[in-house]
Amino acid sequence: MTKTYDIIVGGGGIIGSVTAFAFAKHGFTVALVDEKQVNAKKNIEFDSRAYALSRTTINMLSVLGVWKDLVKIAQPILDMKVSDGVAGRGASPFYMHFDHRDMEAGPIGYMVVDRFLKSSLWESISRNTNISKFFGYKIINQNVNSRLIEVQLENKCKIFGKLLVGSDGRRSTIAERSGIKRHTFDYRQTSIVCAVSHERDHLGEAHQFFMPPGPLAILPLKNRISSIVWTEKSEEASHLKTLSDAKFLKELKPRFGNFRGQISLKGARYFFPLSLSISKKLVVERVALVGDSAHVVHPIAGQGLNLGMRDVASLVEIITIARRCGEDFGTTDVLVRYSTWRDFDRLTLYSFTHLVNKVFSNDSMIIRTLRGIGMGAINNIPGIRRALMEEASGHGEGLPLLMSGRRI
Ligand SMILES: Cc1cc2nc3c(=O)[nH]c(=O)nc-3n(C[C@H](O)[C@H](O)[C@H](O)COP(=O)(O)OP(=O)(O)OC[C@H]3O[C@@H](n4cnc5c(N)ncnc54)[C@H](O)[C@@H]3O)c2cc1C
Repeated sequence: MTKTYDIIVGGGGIIGSVTAFAFAKHGFTVALVDEKQVNAKKNIEFDSRAYALSRTTINMLSVLGVWKDLVKIAQPILDMKVSDGVAGRGASPFYMHFDHRDMEAGPIGYMVVDRFLKSSLWESISRNTNISKFFGYKIINQNVNSRLIEVQLENKCKIFGKLLVGSDGRRSTIAERSGIKRHTFDYRQTSIVCAVSHERDHLGEAHQFFMPPGPLAILPLKNRISSIVWTEKSEEASHLKTLSDAKFLKELKPRFGNFRGQISLKGARYFFPLSLSISKKLVVERVALVGDSAHVVHPIAGQGLNLGMRDVASLVEIITIARRCGEDFGTTDVLVRYSTWRDFDRLTLYSFTHLVNKVFSNDSMIIRTLRGIGMGAINNIPGIRRALMEEASGHGEGLPLLMSGRRI
């Protein structure tokens, strides 16, 4: 079986699904391929994984028509408090408080549970007739000829496209086969993701405590539930993985503190070993990378998915405009516009997250004192606080149209 598509999207995670849908909405024919059987998992038991989505990501999901259902089950983040903490000793007196009222409009961002985001995207994709789905098919090879790229699936089926978008995650074989090398760094930290229910309401407040082994984020979900992203040294995380729920909760409690009353675990625990992984290039002839296949950053600022969304918005804009101008949009001449646009943003974000993790996951007395003073100072200067909030919400120079809520 052979067929030619405008765009082949290799990898149907969140970023690949948004890529496929955004291209299809702009009139492109799309083949979306994932090695897993993608399905709507709305009815499974509570799943503790959740994402902090920035306002610019929400702008894009709104233009694409996906946000109107998600907003009903998303939790607005109204306040964010960042402080130093030591398990059992509570937060330091110096902290930064980001309040949504300091921004021009709306909450700082929204928390959305993984399975709701995926099932909304799935429903949008399944209704769109421009998208052909190849789920349960692994991509095993790709070859570029002068006008097209040929993608071979594990079942020997071949599909052809003008452009292959690599959204196959942190171990991207699309990047590897394209000869794109990566910079990598092992943080020797692991993030433990789980959720807790608590007695007192969170009032939309998010917390980030910087502990010596890594940050602990407490992020608000609907109904007195918070999502926890607890980063520990990997050896300690391996130990925590072996504990029963009761023993695990006993370890978590002194870190969480008692400011929300009694807490209890809700749903499963997930363990994510952390590493930085940055592709040295974003494009080669007929191939462009987006999302984690292009850059995996430390989750310290909860920005990885948002960064991937900015890739998607930029790529769709460049390719849509190139097609309107009658250009062959899979050529390097066109694709290089995308990589040039994205370079500064991705460099800034991975340098920032890397640096913050280095400075904050550290128990030196001197550094601890200096960062306490720094946080106290920032907290007292509203202009800096506002600028940091705008940056975290994805606003910045050269924002793609979809991210500012406009159509291409
Ligand atoms: C602990 C933690 C917390 C985080 N919190 C946040 C947050 O709050 N906010 C935020 O913005 N980001 C956050 N992130 C980052 C975010 O989770 C990732 O950036 C995002 O999930 C990446 O999505 P993706 O679609 O690019 O990749 P993936 O989710 O890895 O998807 C890749 C897809 O490709 C498919 N695939 C792979 N190889 C093949 C192949 N050969 N053929 C076919 N299909 C293939 C896979 O099956 C998979 O479905 C967090 C990350 C971690 C680790």
